[in-house]
Amino acid sequence: MDAGKLFRLDGRVALITGASSGLGERFAETAAANGAAVVLVARRKERLEALKAKIEKAGGRALVAPADVTDRKAMVAAFDAAEKAFGTVDLLVANAGIARVTKIVDMTESGWREVLDTNLDAVLFWSREAAKRMIAARKPGAIITISSIAGFTVAYGLSSYHVAKAAVVQVTKALALEVARKGIRVNTIAPGYIVTEINRDYLGSKDGQALQGSIPLGRFGAPSDLDGAFLLLASDAGRLMTGSTIIVDGGLMLMVGG
Ligand code: NAD
Repeated sequence: MDAGKLFRLDGRVALITGASSGLGERFAETAAANGAAVVLVARRKERLEALKAKIEKAGGRALVAPADVTDRKAMVAAFDAAEKAFGTVDLLVANAGIARVTKIVDMTESGWREVLDTNLDAVLFWSREAAKRMIAARKPGAIITISSIAGFTVAYGLSSYHVAKAAVVQVTKALALEVARKGIRVNTIAPGYIVTEINRDYLGSKDGQALQGSIPLGRFGAPSDLDGAFLLLASDAGRLMTGSTIIVDGGLMLMVGG
């Protein structure tokens, strides 16, 4: 088997949420570089336009579909625009996410809801929309959610993030079970620390540097360190995988309790 061909995404239509920076931007570029037409979703339109231009310059196909992932009307519009431009989305990457630091005793209801709406509810509803449209079009496909090793651990002040990411693992498994017979695979990637806008300040701080020292493979990741896991789950290479969680963390989870 030619490894190059096994991981290709030719003819696929990929919609990536949170494509304006970090991991989402990288997933979009990787999908496009491997043959998929990509639909770029986030709120920052100028960033998406710049990414579209970069992808097209490299020979790929891209569409900008600005949306807040918590807005269901904007969600339907993004899928409609994708369908009109390229056909049914058969690869969803539910990636958009935020982190807010507040201890539970200081938490407001709106603060809690903001993180859960973005990191959990949106993952569920965008995945549901993608699955419904694939089923209606009788098209097999793949859904990739982005959880985190934070779904398995807790740290001070990040309860809403931890709870949402743990729930994303369960949403992934529940949906995987329900749509498997329709030829739709649903898996999650649980990254460790990957340097992006969500954590750059913290990881660059003294505490962050100490944390880096405790990672068995010795470093934080770059978005490109997820290319392999992403292409495995997106492509035919992962054809018998569904409901799986792939941890990509430099071995950090091995240190829990160690
Ligand atoms: P990032 O801040 O660079 O990217 C997050 C993206 O989500 C941005 O494009 C942002 O605009 C978008 N987004 C946030 N809220 C949105 C909303 N309401 N509507 C539309 N778009 C919205 O951070 P990242 O590290 O690339 O994060 C991507 C995903 O990876 C997140 O779900 C994050 O929780 C997860 N993750 C990141 C790490 C890490 O170490 N970087 C580790 C584990 C999991």
